[in-house]
Amino acid sequence: MKNIEYGYWWNCAACGAENAYGLTEAEAAEYIADWEADNSDAVADGETGEGACDWWYNVTAEENDAHIEDKERCWKCNAVATKETRTDKAKWFDSVVDNLEKTS
Ligand SMILES: [Zn+2]
Repeated sequence: MKNIEYGYWWNCAACGAENAYGLTEAEAAEYIADWEADNSDAVADGETGEGACDWWYNVTAEENDAHIEDKERCWKCNAVATKETRTDKAKWFDSVVDNLEKTS
């Protein structure tokens, strides 16, 4: 399994193995450098690549089940991530959104 510095974990529906979605330390360093190079305005306002990386991989990606969107494969059995592999956080996030829609 990938040794991630930023990201989250999901369980394969086919074999039950735990999988990591995200970036290793080296990949994160590259992502951060790229982000800062592409977002000089935001950097001037005090934002950092670390913050962007953290926000995307530790918050937004998990809430959106990015591993399903990206059709990630299980490192162990090579099965593609399906909707059965949704994370609890994504389910929770969806239920919050549903409730907001019902009550608004
Ligand atoms: Zn598997």
